[in-house]
Amino acid sequence: MLEEQLSFHTELIERIDWLLRLRWLAVVGTLSAILVASGLFPGVLPIGPMVAIVAAIVFYNLLFLLYARVLQADAAAAGRWRRTLLFASVQIVLDLLALAALLHFSGGVENPCAMFFVLHVIIASILLPRGMSFAVAGFASILFAALALLEYTGLIPHHPLPGLAGVGLHRQVPYLLVSVLATVTALFAAVYMASSISGQLRTKERELVRSSKAAAARSRELEAVTTRLRGIDEERTRFMMLVSHELRAPLNTIYSVLDLATGGYASPEKSQEMLLRAKQRVTEMLKLINELLMLAKAREEEFKEKERELTQLADILQDVVKLMRVEAESKDMFLGVDIAPDVPSVWVNPDRIKLVWTNLLSNAIKYTEPGGIIVASLSANEGFVRGSVRDTGIGIAPEDQPSIFSDFFRAKNARQLSAIGTGIGLSLVKRIIENAEGRIWLKSELGKGSEFVFELPRGA
Ligand code: ADP
Repeated sequence: MLEEQLSFHTELIERIDWLLRLRWLAVVGTLSAILVASGLFPGVLPIGPMVAIVAAIVFYNLLFLLYARVLQADAAAAGRWRRTLLFASVQIVLDLLALAALLHFSGGVENPCAMFFVLHVIIASILLPRGMSFAVAGFASILFAALALLEYTGLIPHHPLPGLAGVGLHRQVPYLLVSVLATVTALFAAVYMASSISGQLRTKERELVRSSKAAAARSRELEAVTTRLRGIDEERTRFMMLVSHELRAPLNTIYSVLDLATGGYASPEKSQEMLLRAKQRVTEMLKLINELLMLAKAREEEFKEKERELTQLADILQDVVKLMRVEAESKDMFLGVDIAPDVPSVWVNPDRIKLVWTNLLSNAIKYTEPGGIIVASLSANEGFVRGSVRDTGIGIAPEDQPSIFSDFFRAKNARQLSAIGTGIGLSLVKRIIENAEGRIWLKSELGKGSEFVFELPRGA
């Protein structure tokens, strides 16, 4: 509503500007007509009062021009539109009064220039709201009828047009009736038509503004989507480059091993040893490819309806720990489980959660020196089920922590401890947790140990 008022206000100010310029034209036109009439019929019309009326028009138009400047300066101020509306109305009323006075000194109802009343009400319809335009038509009708009546009754003198002196049209009741009736009808019909047209135009203009605003919003949305798509595309390219890079190193090793073995440069024992090394690299590559496939699947699941079910994380954790215990014990580690009673179920894909526990526990075993302690725990709070894997391992340097969940990232201390690793596991874990509307974070101190914690919304 406020916006509509503002646009109406700006439009009104522009149109008032136009009216002010139009008035100069009317002044020039009227003066020329007076000059021509006095030249052709000297002494017939009272030139003095007519020129005085034109001078008054010039005077008030100058005042209006000054006031219009003030209005323009704060056109944007909401609520000021009533003042501008009043300004336009005052101008129209003064113009009507000036026209009536000019008519009075130039034949009154005899003067065909009475039709200029119609022009004024059309101007009113362009400037003002519909109701006010009809009020202006009413006022013009009253002025014209009053002029006819006052001259008819002789309350004001009649100044006949040249050639009409003695005819006394202003005393002919039928003529007066027809003339007043025709003028009043023309005035109201003109307001009806002009205000309908200008109303329609106003609505169309408003619609245009609205639709151009909607188009601008849409193009902004489109821009955002394009930026997002560009980001996804860049990420994909970066990912492909990383994958190629990761696969190239083991393939190079395998190639040189096979080259040596098939070239007959090495003894059978040496060849056997090299082939075993190549096999080891192939196993690593298969592991990497498997993890990459799982990661791709996890990414795809973000867009698909996920196959989730109400799952007890505790059961899965117990299963995984059972499998991991052998490996932990072989490294002389203590692997403990701490499951709080009555942990609620969560909505997840059980296979994916198994991957989460497996990855976190195997990392803990891999990055902890023999003799260390690993504890997996499960608990619940208000809205979440919380899982964690804590170890007394090598820890993660503060500068590495922000990159820990990125694809292919491996910290320097981890590389030194274990040459085998893809840097994909944690990235996969994070995807799985986030796909299930959860979150994951870590607490770690270099040389002391790490804790990976995740939370999933409780399902029941
Ligand atoms: P990978 O273990 O194959 O290198 P991950 O994605 O599982 O790949 O882990 C990424 C990196 O995060 C590891 O290389 C290591 O630097 C660090 N990291 C993960 N878990 C631990 C842990 N429990 N203790 C210390 N560092 C860890």
